[in-house]
Amino acid sequence: MDEKTLRKNIIKMREDLDEATIRLSSAIITESLFSLKGFTEFSTYFVYNSFRGEVDTNEIINRLKILGKTVLYPLTKGDTMYAVKPEDNSFEKDKFGVYVPTNYSIFDSVDVVIVPLVACDKNLNRMGFGKGYYDRFLRNRKCLKIGICHDFQVVDELCPKEWDVPLDVVITEKRILRR
Ligand code: ADP
Ligand code: MG
Repeated sequence: MDEKTLRKNIIKMREDLDEATIRLSSAIITESLFSLKGFTEFSTYFVYNSFRGEVDTNEIINRLKILGKTVLYPLTKGDTMYAVKPEDNSFEKDKFGVYVPTNYSIFDSVDVVIVPLVACDKNLNRMGFGKGYYDRFLRNRKCLKIGICHDFQVVDELCPKEWDVPLDVVITEKRILRR
């Protein structure tokens, strides 16, 4: 299957998931994430706001806040994605339909990135929505890159391009993959 078809098929399968399935998988993945050795020892966490059937990150964000961690969110401007810290509780939808902080400050350094993905393979290569935002963001960054996804998003083999940034860990509701 070519890359475009694979991307389209997985996005469709994910959008067709029912709420209960997403809730259950997200709860399992959140538990696994917080059980990862050393996961809570960092200070700054970059976490996406989930949409379109992605693993729900609300509970991850809540737990990180309870632990007193700094939670940063992705915000895109043109081709660039920034890590931003909200200045209040006001969020609005961006052009993709993702919730982004209305008032924010941009952060340069990030310890842990929770990476959304459309597909990944057993070598932890990643395929995104096809805009390369995370590839550019993660390039030359020293941070722990943790992908979270539904198990059906893990495929046998992707063909990574030279700019693709692989993940360090991938967590699904069924398994944990490591590099
Ligand atoms: P995704 O990772 O979202 O699935 P791709 O890997 O296909 O998307 O990347 C989409 C586009 O982003 C590519 O055409 C590529 O040229 C561009 N891109 C990705 N990373 C970089 C980078 N580090 N520098 C410049 N362009 C990049
Ligand atoms: Mg890529």
